Amino acid sequence: MERTSDYKVIVIGSGPAGCTAALYLARANFVPLVLEGIQPGGQLTITTEVENYPGFPDGILGPKLMDLMRQQAERFGAIFKMEQVEKVELRSHPFVITTDSREYEAQAVIIASGASAKQIGLPSEKELMGFGVSACATCDGFFFKGKEIVVVGGGDSAMEEATFLTKFASKVTIIHRREEMRASKIMQERAMKNEKISFLFNSTIDEIIGTKEGGVTAIKVRNVMSGEVSEMKTQGVFVAIGHTPNTAPYAGQLELDDKGYLVLPHRHSTKTNIEGVFACGDVVDHIYRQAITAAGSGCMAALDCERWLAHERITERWDLPKGEEDRV
Ligand code: NAP
Repeated sequence: MERTSDYKVIVIGSGPAGCTAALYLARANFVPLVLEGIQPGGQLTITTEVENYPGFPDGILGPKLMDLMRQQAERFGAIFKMEQVEKVELRSHPFVITTDSREYEAQAVIIASGASAKQIGLPSEKELMGFGVSACATCDGFFFKGKEIVVVGGGDSAMEEATFLTKFASKVTIIHRREEMRASKIMQERAMKNEKISFLFNSTIDEIIGTKEGGVTAIKVRNVMSGEVSEMKTQGVFVAIGHTPNTAPYAGQLELDDKGYLVLPHRHSTKTNIEGVFACGDVVDHIYRQAITAAGSGCMAALDCERWLAHERITERWDLPKGEEDRV
């Protein structure tokens, strides 16, 4: 596999954390390479309106916000490549990052690989994913015009997805395994006020019934209090039950917590347990998980990285990537 050693800093991930880290590094003349992954822009590209990102009093669409962040980093020289990281070697220096198309060597790495939507874990969910089962209302909502559908989950994602889906569906039922919801009050109230949305509490899905040809036709719902299982007609299932951190390539090298999130062992620092490797955004954060906190930690990672490179005097023995000299 072809190996490139032109980049001093590689940023893995292109959500708010990765883009902000790239912006700061680019403005410091580092010409960072951003490996965007298979979902450039990260989770915000599959969300709708973002109303809580400061600076946008009227709200902004998630994909638009990410496009602007990317443009801002590119303006100062950051390079974005749509490649997925498959393997890393962080135990020797320079670090080696292997993507689906090539190998890269880098002096420093910032991991901002985010988190991915969780699945319920049913065989029928897996089989019918894309055939009536979805984890992305923004992507698939359009296909459920005039249909009756269900959304699984009791967090902000479930409320947001359900509310968005009422633009298309004739009826949306939120199925949640408990009676209390984790979602913020404002999002709960918005969903509750929506006439097209109803709630089914203390319930889980045992099976999704349907075929790839005909889509989803029904679900088997279990009442967790009584144990009773009943069949409910539905034409779509949207799963919105949280996220899993994207840390598979780092296991065994970087410290992970019991949920698989990267651990930052130093207080007030984005340094990982390996010198020269930093992490930021949702891949380290299972508490706040907001675009703005991700962006803030991306800035911190860039500054920590810059200081580390200066401390190691790596900046002094570095030439700009070949063909990129005119970028800065
Ligand atoms: P979350 O807050 O972790 O909620 C996940 C929900 O799914 C919980 O209600 C959980 O039930 C349920 N769940 C988890 N595993 C399940 C399973 N196997 N079967 C059935 N139900 C299951 O995740 P989220 O809603 O994705 O939100 C994540 C973060 O993003 C939050 O901080 C949220 O505020 C933020 N967010 C913000 C916005 C916005 O402001 N526009 C939109 C989306 C997300 P339990 O409660 O019983 O555990």
